[in-house]
Amino acid sequence: MRQFKTESKRVLDLMINSVYTHREIFLRELISNSSDAIDKLYFRSLTDDSVALTRDDYAITLELDKDARTLRISDNGIGMDEDALNENLGVIAHSDTRAFNDELAKSDQSPGSRLVGQFGVGFYSAFMVSRKVTVLSRAFGSQKAYLWESEGVEGYTVKEAEKPAHGTEITLTLKEDTEDEKYSEYLDPYRVSRLVKQYSDYIRYPITLDFTSTDKDGNTEIENRTLNSMIPLWRKNRNELTPEDYGGFYKSKFGDFADPAFTSHYSAEGAISYTALLFAPSQAPYNFYSREYEKGLQLYANGVLIMDRCADLLPDHFGFVRGLIDSPDLSLNISREMLQHDRQLKSIAKSIEKKIKGELTSMLENDREKYESFFKAFGLQLKFGLYNGFGANADQLKDLVLFRSLAKEKPVTFKEYVEAMPEGQEAIYYVSAETPAKAALMPQTERLREKGFDILCLTEDVDEFALKILRAYDGKEFRSVSGSGLDLTDEEKKEQEAKSGENKDLLSFLGEALTGKVSKVVVSTLLRKHPVCLTSEGDLSIEMEKVLSHMPGSEGAKAERVLELNADHPVFAAMRTLFVTDRDKLAMYAKLLYTQALLIEGLPIDDPVAFSDDICSLMV
Ligand code: ADP
Repeated sequence: MRQFKTESKRVLDLMINSVYTHREIFLRELISNSSDAIDKLYFRSLTDDSVALTRDDYAITLELDKDARTLRISDNGIGMDEDALNENLGVIAHSDTRAFNDELAKSDQSPGSRLVGQFGVGFYSAFMVSRKVTVLSRAFGSQKAYLWESEGVEGYTVKEAEKPAHGTEITLTLKEDTEDEKYSEYLDPYRVSRLVKQYSDYIRYPITLDFTSTDKDGNTEIENRTLNSMIPLWRKNRNELTPEDYGGFYKSKFGDFADPAFTSHYSAEGAISYTALLFAPSQAPYNFYSREYEKGLQLYANGVLIMDRCADLLPDHFGFVRGLIDSPDLSLNISREMLQHDRQLKSIAKSIEKKIKGELTSMLENDREKYESFFKAFGLQLKFGLYNGFGANADQLKDLVLFRSLAKEKPVTFKEYVEAMPEGQEAIYYVSAETPAKAALMPQTERLREKGFDILCLTEDVDEFALKILRAYDGKEFRSVSGSGLDLTDEEKKEQEAKSGENKDLLSFLGEALTGKVSKVVVSTLLRKHPVCLTSEGDLSIEMEKVLSHMPGSEGAKAERVLELNADHPVFAAMRTLFVTDRDKLAMYAKLLYTQALLIEGLPIDDPVAFSDDICSLMV
């Protein structure tokens, strides 16, 4: 007995014990695998004369046997050799252990359904309804066949077997019926036909059902019926398709469990004609934000799949879109290199990009809730898009991004922010913090909030970089609340100058006490109740410094720090006194305030022990 890889075992366990209610999807998963296996052989037949089959020879067969309690799915596709059986069915396809375990740790009490979809564990879904699964397969071109067999988590066996022709035959021995689950429904020809019609109608190869029927005289007869229409869904008339049709197709084809956030189905005429069927997932695949994720659309030439992920059809910022393009004008044996340089392909890509932007804009305008949930999944990608290529796509994307408003406590677009700006506000303000809750606590936001200015919360690493690239929206500059000298009224300016003048010597003493730590110490115009905060001068902000410090090669980048003090705070008065009476103690105050400002910013402090000792010396 061979063991499943650890992560596969866990998936299997989930699958078997999952509370997932749509168990019937196992059928579409297995049929879809069969169809893929036939696609592979068919594609090979275009260049390989040893494949003697013609287009009409391919088929997927379902057989029901009530007595044996078995459902069998057979295909005459490319098949699997011993290694492929071990590799493909002994581990979950394409998953890496860590990502999976991370997801598992994050997920709630019924993680089954979500994980199942994210990890593309199609084949394993058979265990939701089966007590035992056997896979008899013979790879095309090989004389040997193998039998894979498993009853679940315990493991599986693979041994040599007999099979007259290439292809794969999967036999499910269904579980016994229980109070809640009637597994024998999958032995009912009527039910099975309906499921095929519902989920797999578009499959390009005939799916036939063999079953025995008994008439009223007790005579048994073997019936055989083709269940699917074989017309690819995207070739059907849009008016005849329901959201359920699209949803089912999307889920089976792209291995998701959730309905897409949007579906776009259209045909274009021109130098090159094509039909496009595009979907935006409503949740990010587990590996979306990793190198492992490959963007791209399926490319069909007249209904034949010629490339599974044609990356050139999608810009990076819309890399989450799944779907396909089918064109009668593409040649079947077009190579990857040719595709890369293909001008026609570029023009398709341009129009796809436009289409996607249109879909997202209309979702944003017409279904805000859905858009916000979509943005949770893929907003980061859109923001990377703003930033990448020095903002080459910024114009395209700037109206699609959301940032959380501190005042409204919900995500807003730049447009909404600008429209709500009160008179006298000239810039778009933002604050960087780990979370919106922390942003709301930042002392730097005090004065602006008092003025009734809203502030955008930047919580992702890329955010501030993206706004820096964008520079302004609708003529309104983006400004960090920490940038010094934020649009002050003349009165405020005068007041600050007066306070700074009065305390000139004190401020320069404090500046000296903090040499090497801050570039200067100033009387703050930002603070109202709080005594101290840190801001920065110049292009590099403290948040950006934090981000860069994690990036190889940019460790040295330092923001020019400014320590801001609230001249109306009692601690400032105390310092004025110390300036006359005890300068050693004042120097310690300077260090303490600086360290507090670091803590507020969430920055590491140089010497925590000294900080603690100093505080204690004041406490006793
Ligand atoms: P996925 O289909 O997402 O890759 P599955 O777990 O459903 O994941 O299948 C794993 C792999 O097993 C497939 O990628 C394919 O290589 C192989 N496989 C599954 N079913 C068949 C089949 N009927 N014929 C040939 N290969 C198959």
